[in-house]
Amino acid sequence: KLSPLEVPNRLLLGPGPSNAHPAVLQAMNTTPLGHLDPAFLALMDEIQSLLRYVWQTENPHTIAVSGTGTAAMEATLANTVEPGDVVLIGVAGYFGNRLVDMAGRYGADVRTITKPWGQVFSLDEISTALETHKPAILALVHAETSTGARQPLEEVGELCRKYGTLLLVDTVTSLGGVPIFLDEWGVDLAYSCSQKGLGCSPGASPFTMSARAMEKLQKRETKVANWYLDMLLLGKYWGVERTYHHTAPINLYYGLREALRLVAEEGLASCWQRHQKNVEYLWESLETIGLKMHVEKEFRLPTLTTVCIPEGVDGKAVAKQLLLDHNIEVGGGLGELAGKVWRVGLMGFNSRPESVDRLVAALKEVLGK
Ligand code: PLP
Repeated sequence: KLSPLEVPNRLLLGPGPSNAHPAVLQAMNTTPLGHLDPAFLALMDEIQSLLRYVWQTENPHTIAVSGTGTAAMEATLANTVEPGDVVLIGVAGYFGNRLVDMAGRYGADVRTITKPWGQVFSLDEISTALETHKPAILALVHAETSTGARQPLEEVGELCRKYGTLLLVDTVTSLGGVPIFLDEWGVDLAYSCSQKGLGCSPGASPFTMSARAMEKLQKRETKVANWYLDMLLLGKYWGVERTYHHTAPINLYYGLREALRLVAEEGLASCWQRHQKNVEYLWESLETIGLKMHVEKEFRLPTLTTVCIPEGVDGKAVAKQLLLDHNIEVGGGLGELAGKVWRVGLMGFNSRPESVDRLVAALKEVLGK
């Protein structure tokens, strides 16, 4: 006989997932409905309108993709990239590079602008690159989880419109924790995840496209080279037709709906303020024990902080001790920042002063401060 599932009770302060809110876990522990049951379809409608709220958009084509953030990322490119399209991508970290790899697989003529990891692009740099490449799509990572930097997006959409360029934005580590105004900023395509700022489990990933992006999809000469993520097909399940497309992960959608409802109950602006307040408390607390942040304050994310590993300290060993002795997960560095930083997430339900206090107390002990 197998023993019941037992997992350690960790405080997840890494780059994600974050701990799901107890109410979200409770919502997921509800009997599944059929994926075409009217009660479930009503819940899908609710998810759509709540997603529009957290993203601050009116886009009708706003859904949750059944899959993790990468699936929703793939959906943005699969639907809008036609072979030969020039796609300009801002690369200042690991996820910019993932966009490059992915866009290339859909036949894009990929161009890049780059910055050292931890920095962001200025409006001038973006403007010059748009003038040079005149791309069909410009892709930027709003919250680069590998570096902890926040890419400002104000006015980028306006620039894109001059060149008939669609603006695609990765909001995986920003949705729910960092101010985002998709419509005001003129963002045409965005994707996110459920397991970070929204405080749900991984697997149901927000996706949205503007009327301009939909027009490009409708006019394309080649079929979308990905059946599962084709929005013309998916739209018939999420839209008025309600045609079977795939069996939705019902319980995850229960969780996502509850997570979104909690954000709405708190109020989006309050939720953003809470993330900002708690991360500032984190930075101050880490500084008091002599630690430094990797990113300049102005561009730091409220959801994810890269903390420099001091000289002579074995970062991996510290993270292991935090996990095994203190039940706290923090992330290691990715790519260029491997071995140089820890990544500390304060996302969704985990963005609380108690999370900071627990982490700093444990770090003091582990580092002998
Ligand atoms: N984009 C960014 C900025 C991310 O941080 C992540 C995951 O951490 C992804 C995309 C991919 O999301 P997922 O791991 O949920 O597939």
